[in-house]
Amino acid sequence: MTILAPVRLTQRIVVVGGGVLGTMHAVMARRRGYEVVHLEREAEARGASVRNFGLVWVSGRRAGAELGLALRARELWQELAAAVPGLGFRPAGSLTLATDDAELQVLKEAAGLPDADRRRFELLDPGGVREVNPALRGELAGGLLCRADAIVEPRQVLPALRGHLKGDGYQWLPGREVTEIAPNAVRDHTGAWHQCDLVVLCTGAAFTGVTGRYQRFLARDGVRRVRLQMMQTAPLAERLTTAVADGDSLRYYPAYELPGRSQLAPQPPVAARARAQLLLVQRADGGLTIGDTHEYEEPFAFDVDSDAYDHLLGRAAALLGAPVPRVQRRWAGVYSETQPAAGQPAAGHALYHRSEPEPGVVLVTGPGGRGMTCAPAIAEETFR
Ligand SMILES: Cc1cc2nc3c(=O)[nH]c(=O)nc-3n(C[C@H](O)[C@H](O)[C@H](O)COP(=O)(O)OP(=O)(O)OC[C@H]3O[C@@H](n4cnc5c(N)ncnc54)[C@H](O)[C@@H]3O)c2cc1C
Repeated sequence: MTILAPVRLTQRIVVVGGGVLGTMHAVMARRRGYEVVHLEREAEARGASVRNFGLVWVSGRRAGAELGLALRARELWQELAAAVPGLGFRPAGSLTLATDDAELQVLKEAAGLPDADRRRFELLDPGGVREVNPALRGELAGGLLCRADAIVEPRQVLPALRGHLKGDGYQWLPGREVTEIAPNAVRDHTGAWHQCDLVVLCTGAAFTGVTGRYQRFLARDGVRRVRLQMMQTAPLAERLTTAVADGDSLRYYPAYELPGRSQLAPQPPVAARARAQLLLVQRADGGLTIGDTHEYEEPFAFDVDSDAYDHLLGRAAALLGAPVPRVQRRWAGVYSETQPAAGQPAAGHALYHRSEPEPGVVLVTGPGGRGMTCAPAIAEETFR
């Protein structure tokens, strides 16, 4: 007779970090019936998860695992939105716009990808673009509609999800910085211990403090930090029916690693310097979130660069064919991303970092610019 060792089920989970990854881990843990204690060092999360566009972005994902993860996440966002209207989920789709023949050629190639149907791509001429999104009155060569893309409201998502979790089995503890991890417990800066069966660390781009001791695990996936500049305008008088990306986005997203990409004209120096691409999303209140830039070298600037903002505003006005409303807010945000070693292919590299740096501790970070999109699917994978 075989005697089986007793299986100890995880009952209580401490999630560290109130960003979208931590909050989605809390959601998925509660779905499985675990009790969750959720700690955040700030009074309210103020990291990448509230500074982003709120784009649930399927269109530019690399074929294969990355696209699969984004599509699963898109399903989960939609499913969650049915229960949590406060997410502001809109299955609005996106338009990636071409203003010259070289950009149009990349869009044509993308529309012919074997997985174009899964992305729900459709190539449109300028008339077709305006039928879908009449606010785009600028000079265009065409556009790629991606019906799979969606939008959420980043400033609402976290409190809305916590409101959904509220009740027995979920405890939200803001203003508590975790400073120590011991077997089956964490201690916060007030000295309070929180007992648990599993710690899930979703500490975002914080690579010091309690996560600092796990640097060698992060290094395994080449996790680095990236800083982006963003802005938001006063409300635009009309609705923008889709999210919008300009032709520069074709340079950065892996789905567009296509033959036509090598024929794109060089970016203007200011855009090349800032590694800028235009992404434009209308908020629920009508304001436009506009970005972004990419800074990879640390130490990052502590101030924001007006030249990059001027460039992005010029691009937005050209696509709208109208002046952009006054900018009311400017900010920068930092995310963490996995990165292959120099000379190694990006395809097949970890899409995000998950490790178990010690028994009973799981560290999840590094989803990069796809973190808002993929967070629900990443959290689902942690508990699978
Ligand atoms: C400007 C910008 C635009 C972006 N746009 C998009 C987009 O449109 N779509 C998309 O898919 N992705 C986008 N991203 C990426 C996405 O926002 C991130 O990948 C994602 O938000 C990361 O979530 P996170 O929970 O890991 O990190 P964060 O949101 O940074 O959360 C980590 C949290 O952990 C807390 N914390 C850290 N240490 C401790 C500790 N010791 N104790 C307690 N709490 C702690 C921090 O205070 C913080 O609140 C964008 C990112 C930026 C910066």
